[in-house]
Amino acid sequence: MKSVTVIGASLAGLYAARALRAQGYDGRLTLVGAEPHLPYDRPPLSKEFLTAPATADSAAEAPLALTDAEEIAGLDAEWLLGTRATRLDLRHRAVHLDTGRVLTTDGIVLATGAAPRRLPGPAPAGSYTLRTLDDAGALRAELARGPARVVVIGGGFIGAEVAASCASLGHQVTVVEAAPLPLVPQLGETMAELCARLHGDHGVALLTGTGVRGLRADGDGRVTAVELADGRLLTADLVVTGIGVRPATDWLAGSGLPLADGVRCDAGCVTPIPAIVAAGDVAQVAGARAEHWTSATEQAATAVHNLLAGRTVRTHRALPYFWSDQYGVRIQFAGHRAPGDVPRIVEGSPDDRSFLARYERDGRTTAVLALNRPRPFLRLRRELTRPSPAPTG
Ligand code: FAD
Ligand code: NAP
Repeated sequence: MKSVTVIGASLAGLYAARALRAQGYDGRLTLVGAEPHLPYDRPPLSKEFLTAPATADSAAEAPLALTDAEEIAGLDAEWLLGTRATRLDLRHRAVHLDTGRVLTTDGIVLATGAAPRRLPGPAPAGSYTLRTLDDAGALRAELARGPARVVVIGGGFIGAEVAASCASLGHQVTVVEAAPLPLVPQLGETMAELCARLHGDHGVALLTGTGVRGLRADGDGRVTAVELADGRLLTADLVVTGIGVRPATDWLAGSGLPLADGVRCDAGCVTPIPAIVAAGDVAQVAGARAEHWTSATEQAATAVHNLLAGRTVRTHRALPYFWSDQYGVRIQFAGHRAPGDVPRIVEGSPDDRSFLARYERDGRTTAVLALNRPRPFLRLRRELTRPSPAPTG
């Protein structure tokens, strides 16, 4: 393979570039990224970045950087930043860019991540989604103007973390969640209920079981209220919407690659065309799409290994893991939880918002959850990654 092009120059894209060089690839390497920034870390954007005092942009960005000048030089890649891939021509193995340039390439890593889902209708001033550094910078500047009535739509990860950040800044916060309880798909009902209590602990109102009909704006086009599906109106100076994401595959429509909730890949992150692999939020790997930091990094290494091998010789077997920081509590989860698995608290107490729980099925631990218990969590997470002993008898 003489040339590889990575589309998406963020977490999965950077880890793919690193893996290519680490695995001995010495051909031409190009990274195409729609954002103008070098790869940076997204998790702090809903957490410490939002609550940090506003500083000059460069100073605020520095702690988020995922790479540095020395690594950039070592990767020996062409970085096309602020540039979007618009079309993939499989027959000629060519990537069309919005600059008009066309890159022909032997191998392709798809790492375009995901984009926020939006409410239907126009977005008035004062309403935000949060995915990029630029989104977070704009939201932070607005939050710094003084106490506001903030309505957060969606009680998932973005919603909970933004609500916590806004509350810590002294804003009056209401979270609106369509489901009867947030985070049930990730944690199951019992544990999701314990996590939802964190909102109330910190004076944040959580309204569940209602969607949103739309946003109201004044004559200047500035948001004034959120209209709920049940007709209630919530006055709002600021609205943050975190209602999930869509994998960023629009530009691949009509390419011939199988797309269904992401780029469909086998268990080795390889598409039906062995020279095209995918990693991160955009990749549907063996039927499942992960939207977490650790998966993006691990999948990138697997994808590149198989790209260079020319076929799937390694599969992505890592144990799913994510963390979330809300109201000073670190929530950590790892494992394969299935509906019906029974959570059992084995250490600590929900009343202290500090505990360790095992999810069990047929006497086996399938997953582990911790609130503010990082060390024992790590121990159990390691246990879960060890292969189970072969049955005897
Ligand atoms: P992305 O990070 O989305 O990067 C994709 C890149 O591709 C983007 O820069 C995008 O602009 C670019 N791109 C898209 N389309 C094109 C195109 N056509 N051409 C060129 N470039 C394109 N996960 C956790 O596990 N824990 C956390 O605490 C956590 N916190 C988070 C907080 C926030 C605010 C957000 C937004 C996410 C958080 N995540 C967290 C999720 C984690 O950041 C993502 O899973 C991770 O960023 C996925 O990496 P990725 O490279 O696949 O996609
Ligand atoms: P999310 O975790 O999927 O949560 C979205 C929530 O919004 C769901 O609970 C959803 O309920 C609800 N919802 C959907 N439509 C709604 C509506 N119209 N009104 C009210 N509620 C609605 O997505 P997210 O919080 O937007 O996060 C975006 C991405 O960033 C995800 O990939 C996430 O994994 C990632 N992220 C991760 C972390 C972390 O791991 N710590 C932190 C921040 C962000 P239903 O389930 O009923 O649809």
